Amino acid sequence: MTGSKKVDVSVVIPVYNEEESLPALFERLFPVMEGLGKNWEVVFINDGSKDRSLGLLLECVEKYPGKVKVVDFNGNFGQHMAIIAGFSASRGEVIVTMDADLQNPPEEIPRLLEQIEKGHDVVGTIRKFRQDPIFRKIASKIVNFITNKITGLNLHDYGCMLRAYHRRIVDLINECPESTTFIPALAQKFAVNPVEIEVKHSERVQGKSKYSLFRLIRLNFDLITSFSMAPLQAVTMLGIIVAGLSLLFSIFLLIRRLVVGPEAEGLFTLMTINFFLLGITMFCIGITGEYIGRIHQEIRRRPRFIINKVYGDE
Ligand code: UDP
Ligand code: MG
Repeated sequence: MTGSKKVDVSVVIPVYNEEESLPALFERLFPVMEGLGKNWEVVFINDGSKDRSLGLLLECVEKYPGKVKVVDFNGNFGQHMAIIAGFSASRGEVIVTMDADLQNPPEEIPRLLEQIEKGHDVVGTIRKFRQDPIFRKIASKIVNFITNKITGLNLHDYGCMLRAYHRRIVDLINECPESTTFIPALAQKFAVNPVEIEVKHSERVQGKSKYSLFRLIRLNFDLITSFSMAPLQAVTMLGIIVAGLSLLFSIFLLIRRLVVGPEAEGLFTLMTINFFLLGITMFCIGITGEYIGRIHQEIRRRPRFIINKVYGDE
């Protein structure tokens, strides 16, 4: 394929220490791509893997000349930044994202493309019978619910990365310079005619999830702060409510003092109330800090990711 030839479908896959999964991925993905009867390309992003992932990806570049590109990052910048870099490197009219660990079956790609052909610009997915630890499934349900309420977006499964986007959407995403983001939510913002379909989901057979509990929490903070100011407004409302209640309580104490006399007991009640208010204050400072930290990150204007080299790009 030459640089001038039109690409119909690009598949973008972030890879972080996936040496165990990659051989099986290649074995299943490439026959699906060949079977599409379209011009295709696959863009892998090596997100700072420390194992043999890069070597395996480069073998693929050799094997499918002009069809496989590898964007090699100079460190670990996270799944969403990897996808952003993959978007910039891809040329397809339709862009599909998926994970490298085969939790998203490549065999579902034609179904996503069908939806784009029907005129949808974003094809979201819902994992049918999701095969993940129970704690993650419950946490996701809560996160999906809260995020929908807070952001006003309406997605049923934020976490499933097997998704398809029309070129127009990816071009819009490429114009966004933000340094923390969440791709499915961003795409949903720009979508005119989105659709969600159910897709199969498998257990991770090889390797481990790259998300620790702490990283998952950070990711969800990114999601909420990038798409909503509702937490800040909630802090203000909470402040107003607490101040109002305190005022009522002071009036009550004043009247009590005039009627019954001064109050001396109740040290522990006072302490409990104080600790409670201290907790609320720290929580509110924390929320404000989440936003300030992100402003700080934006104004430093450091590169969002650093590319070592792009392989397979003519
Ligand atoms: N990933 C990445 N950079 C990271 C973490 C993950 O590129 O910092 C990739 C990973 O290799 C995989 C995809 O993102 O292709 C999803 O990661 P994982 O399967 O660990 O997430 P989970 O399925 O547990 O949500
Ligand atoms: Mg996974």
